[in-house]
Amino acid sequence: MKRKLGLVYGGKSAEHEVSLSTATAVTNAIDFGKYEVIPIYITYEGEWRKGEPLTTPAETKEQLRFERDKTKPDSIHDFLNGNGTPDIILPLLHGTNGEDGTVQGLFEVMNIPYAGNGVLASSAGMDKVVMKQLFALVGLKQVPYVHFIRTQWKADQSYWIKKMEEELTFPMFVKPANLGSSVGISKATDHDSLIAAVDFALKFDRKIIVEQGVSAREIEVGVLGNDDPQCSVLGEIKPVAAFYDYEAKYQDGNTELLIPAPVQGEVETTLKEMAIRAFKVLDCSGLVRADFFVTDQDEVIINEVNTMPGFTPTSMFPLLWQNTGVSYPELIDTLIELALERHEEKK
Ligand code: ATP
Ligand code: MG
Ligand code: MG
Ligand code: MG
Repeated sequence: MKRKLGLVYGGKSAEHEVSLSTATAVTNAIDFGKYEVIPIYITYEGEWRKGEPLTTPAETKEQLRFERDKTKPDSIHDFLNGNGTPDIILPLLHGTNGEDGTVQGLFEVMNIPYAGNGVLASSAGMDKVVMKQLFALVGLKQVPYVHFIRTQWKADQSYWIKKMEEELTFPMFVKPANLGSSVGISKATDHDSLIAAVDFALKFDRKIIVEQGVSAREIEVGVLGNDDPQCSVLGEIKPVAAFYDYEAKYQDGNTELLIPAPVQGEVETTLKEMAIRAFKVLDCSGLVRADFFVTDQDEVIINEVNTMPGFTPTSMFPLLWQNTGVSYPELIDTLIELALERHEEKK
């Protein structure tokens, strides 16, 4: 019998469109002889819509967007009722309400195996401040940073500006603590742009992190596995823009990805060892993409990990594995196998 594979995508997140691209690509890679594919679309508003099982890959992401059908109950209810409940779920969601442990919690209580990271790793990995605090516990080198929440900023803006200007130097990177795909991130080069950057980031999150900007190469590593995770080859990003922003990631196609990255010897070993240490301290499972800075002096600094990295066929994570000998369809199979293994392991 075919296994019922639920693809959960879309999401109430600023990264909704990215997730739709991922879901379209994944349908192209699934073996329809082996799986019955159930599309489960989460709208921008956070409503769940279960579609009819797919029999062929989705040609466009438009095909995977479902309009409301008033004659049917809301899909989340349908879904929770056990009416066609999937045997296993691929949560192809990025950002809040998807990459942050919330849907993972739902699948946990429903006792359905799901691919990727669990509740703890997902939520700790989504919050850049918590993630950095955990990284510090295991001695992973990071850039200096300042963090605060909206109410603190509103209460005493000048205190926070003074603190940032004392503890950090320009340029600084101002980020919403809980996002991805560079959404809400700005590079601040002076006092005025710093204030504007904080106000902008506050549109996306109540918690802000302001990091010391570094001038360095950007190297990424894919990690795959559960208790004994393995690293992919290294990849380097050469952004053409001021930094690797949203457009550079998904729209302009100008960013050059060097795979494998020209990094050798000790630096390569350090990058991989740090990626595994980061994976373990967050108690990750399935996959992560670890993002690093490597300075001219070959100093390796961890930037972050992504618990559900970009997953379109032109995204770094699948390309890293392709260059390590794991094709896109094999990668999906592996994630499914790892999900089942983890589900068994928990019992
Ligand atoms: P994603 O999850 O898609 O990787 P993100 O939204 O979590 O992105 P970051 O990876 O933290 O964001 O930052 C996005 C980009 O901004 C980096 O790839 C890099 O180009 C630049 N950047 C971020 N922080 C710094 C920093 N401290 N110094 C220099 N460049 C930085
Ligand atoms: Mg990220
Ligand atoms: Mg991300
Ligand atoms: Mg990143």
